[in-house]
Amino acid sequence: MSSTPEKNEKSTIRSKKLGDKNDLRIKAIENGTVIDHITPGQALNVLRIISVGENFKNTVSIVMNAGGARGDKDVVKIEGKELTEKEVAAISLLSPKATVNIIRNFEVIEKKQVAIPQCVHGILKCVNPNCISNSKEPIDSRFIVKECKNGAIHLRCAYCESVMTENFIKNII
Ligand SMILES: [Zn+2]
Repeated sequence: MSSTPEKNEKSTIRSKKLGDKNDLRIKAIENGTVIDHITPGQALNVLRIISVGENFKNTVSIVMNAGGARGDKDVVKIEGKELTEKEVAAISLLSPKATVNIIRNFEVIEKKQVAIPQCVHGILKCVNPNCISNSKEPIDSRFIVKECKNGAIHLRCAYCESVMTENFIKNII
């Protein structure tokens, strides 16, 4: 029976360690955006397409392959940034099931599902180097979006008709 106090001591130590682990959890954000239900593996591309990179100075948290009720997903939390309509549309190209939650004062004040737009302006560069949107003319790129039956997305340049498929991520401006 002499082992009982020792056991108790051990379990105390273990619960202390668990407490520390909880402290390392991602904290809630005060003001900003949580992009949830991102297609697994797309979190970094989502940040790229909304121009959150090395020059962005606020806190950004990324969770990849998090298990949720709807299966694996990536989640991105960005402090101090709300997305434009254009950015939300861009996210839908990578992650059509994503939801965008706007946080103010730690509360979700708006939650919206992204929707694939009919047209994408200015976010991507046309693959054709001779396209007028790649010339010195002040013309923004413009793509017509086509959603295929298998869920793949095709983007057709409105100027030169070049088509981009899933490789479009390489052509983010
Ligand atoms: Zn073009």
